[in-house]
Formats: sequence, structure tokens, C-alpha cells
Amino acid sequence: MPSSRSVVIVGAGIGGLTAALAIARRGFEVAVFDQAERLEEVGAGIQLSPNASRILLALGLAEQLQRHVVTPEELRVIDALTARVLARAPLGAAAERRYGAPYWVIHRSDLQTVLVEAVRAYPGIVSAHSPQGDIEHRGAALIGADGLWSSLRGSLGHRRAPRFAGHSAWRALAPAEAMAPELRAPAVNLWLGSAAHLVHYPVRGGSLVNVVAIMRDDWRETGWSAPADRAEILARYSAAAWSATARALLAAPRHWQKWALYDRPPLAHWGTGAVTLLGDAAHPMLPYLAQGAAMAIEDAAVLAQRLAETRDNPAAAMRRYERQRRSRTARAQRAARRNGTIYQLAGPAASLRSLALASLGGARLLARYDWLYGWTPA
Ligand SMILES: Cc1cc2nc3c(=O)[nH]c(=O)nc-3n(C[C@H](O)[C@H](O)[C@H](O)COP(=O)(O)OP(=O)(O)OC[C@H]3O[C@@H](n4cnc5c(N)ncnc54)[C@H](O)[C@@H]3O)c2cc1C
Repeated sequence: MPSSRSVVIVGAGIGGLTAALAIARRGFEVAVFDQAERLEEVGAGIQLSPNASRILLALGLAEQLQRHVVTPEELRVIDALTARVLARAPLGAAAERRYGAPYWVIHRSDLQTVLVEAVRAYPGIVSAHSPQGDIEHRGAALIGADGLWSSLRGSLGHRRAPRFAGHSAWRALAPAEAMAPELRAPAVNLWLGSAAHLVHYPVRGGSLVNVVAIMRDDWRETGWSAPADRAEILARYSAAAWSATARALLAAPRHWQKWALYDRPPLAHWGTGAVTLLGDAAHPMLPYLAQGAAMAIEDAAVLAQRLAETRDNPAAAMRRYERQRRSRTARAQRAARRNGTIYQLAGPAASLRSLALASLGGARLLARYDWLYGWTPA
């Protein structure tokens, strides 16, 4: 159980684990609790943009992560019907030069495993299985990193439920060897269709391709692993609107899982006293900017810095952390929503969007995200 000097973290997701490491490295005792008894092998990839990778590297995780990551050479934006590449934004060495840290993609469970192992190996961190309700809070500070459906957020008085986006994300992994070369190349691919889009990139050293298909949908069940039907996705991504290449990609995985997508509007106050929120618990966002985990990782680095500055006054440190993080995370939440609207345009508006992207070009497309990827902890 936590001592009166320890920092207690509820939730051992990407945000909670990164916070545990970052805060313990500043000399605090940390206790991290999760309701889940073991990691779920969720079939999903995650993009780690330079603003997030630079923090994980600074935490000493380079060697462990390099075993698992893929460095995509480019971001390709592709027209769903014709399979024509509308824009290519340079990633790989070009992104690393521009932002001072790599742009990676990784299987979510590989990232989670690297973080869990680092936490377990760290002498100042205790990790345990326990739901938030069972934790007797005797620490000096409490961090709610318990995700989109955070119960700590509710106990801080923020009782509004997450809002359903009207979209679902269908996710799958397929063996890369079964794919055509252009589908398994080291690239992040974004296919834009009419009222639906598709993202895919290789993970696990390039042996698997992570596929995410996002469509308008009324299905709104919660949870991370609802099974989904391959025939249904092929019916929804029909040959009338999707090229044979895109449909070959969708036909490759045997098993699909689906997620209903939710976010929440930005929050004016995250915490009170020596209690605060971090990651999706504070600022859940739609996945159209690929930044939810990245923002949780940034939160962790900033919160650790602020706690270290005022060791004897965690409440003051938390208010400073919140002031520093609120506008940036709100901007990311809004930008993610805006991308969602653009990606899900239908009919002539979708054609205009594709034309605009083609004329913008890849380099200028990437430069629009300098505010995100160029960020470093102060
Ligand atoms: C389709 C999709 C694609 C995405 N792609 C990307 C991407 O490419 N890049 C990116 O940066 N982000 C991406 N994201 C977002 C990212 O997955 C989340 O933002 C991120 O996982 C949030 O991390 P977190 O630690 O805040 O919360 P979570 O990962 O949700 O972790 C919360 C933890 O808290 C635990 N918990 C919950 N309640 C309690 C309780 N009461 N007591 C104890 N423990 C509790 C849970 O078991 C869980 O382990 C994507 C999301 C989706 C849906």
C-alpha cells in the first residue's frame, strides 16, 4: 500500500505507466494500480509521433522499443476509388531531422509490454491489480490515468458521459507476407473514401500489417474487443467506392474487432488539491490525429517535471501541470474532431477534399503538424 510520500496512479495504460516511470525517475515512490489482472492482447497498432517518441527515449527505453518499432518512410494519402496517391509526406529520416526524434509505429501490446517491464524493473515503483474503488488513498498525490470512462473523473465532479462520435473503428492484423508489396511497405497509409476511411501500416518489425477501417455507424457499445465480421466490412467498403487494392487489404485479416468511438469536450478544470487527471481520463480525443496516447505521454513528462519542482506541494505542482497542458490538449481534441469531419466527407465534398490535398502536397501537409510533432517538454 502507498506510503504518505508516494504518488498513487490509478490506471496502468500507456499514460499511467509512462507517468509511473517519469515520476519515479524524479525520485518519488510510485504506486500504480489497474483494474485489469493482465494485459489484453488487443489487435491494434499505434503511431508514436516524435513528440511522444522523444519522451520515451528520454526515459531510457530506446533499446527495448527499437526491437518492436517500424519507422515508416512516408505518409501516403490515397484516393479510395482509384488507389491514386494524392500526397506523400516524408517521415523516416526526414521527420527525425525536422523534429529531432523519430516517427514510429508499434503494436500497442508491444509498447505496453515495454512499459510494464520497465515499471516492474524500477525499484521505486509498486504495481498492483486493484480497481480504483478499492484503493485507500494514503499517498501524497493521486493521478487518475484510468482512461475514457475514468471513474476518478466522475468522483472529481465531472459527471457528463463521453459523447458518441457516430463512427466505429474496425481493427485487424494480417500477416505481411500475404500482402502485395505496396500494402506492406514501411509507410503510414491513409485511404480517403466517401463517408469512410482506412489506415494501415506495418507493425511487429514489419511482419504484420495493422489495418483500421473507420466508418459512420450507429453501433455504440463500449469496450475494446467486440468481434466484427469480415463479410460486413467488405460489404461496407464496396467495389463501387473502393479500389481492388483496398479491398484486397480488407479481405486479408481473418479476425476483426470493432470499437465505437467517443470523445469528450475539453475540460476547464482537471483536478483539485493533490488530485489530477492524465491522458484519456482528462482529454479523450477521436483517433483522427493519432495523438491520444502521445498526449498522455506528454502529460506524464510535464507532470513529473512539475512535481519535481515543488516536491513539498504536489497540489501546486498539479495546478501548474494542468495550466500547461490544458490548451495544447484541447487543441489536439479539436483538431482530431476536425480531421474526422474532413475524412468522413461524402459525395462531391469528398472529391474536393481529395483535390485540395493533392494540391497541398506532402511536405506542406506535414508542416501543418509542426505544432504537434515539434513539441518538447519545457
Ligand atoms: C482506433 C484507435 C486508434 C488509435 N491510434 C492512436 C495512435 O496511432 N496514436 C496515439 O497516440 N493514440 C492513438 N489512439 C488513442 C490511444 O489509444 C489512447 O488515447 C490511449 O490509449 C490513452 O491512454 P491512457 O493511458 O490515458 O488510457 P487507457 O489506455 O485507456 O488506459 C486506462 C487504464 O486504466 C485502467 N482502469 C480503468 N478504470 C480503472 C479503475 N476504476 N481502477 C483501476 N484501473 C482502471 C484500464 O484497465 C486501463 O489499463 C487510438 C485510439 C483508437 C480508438
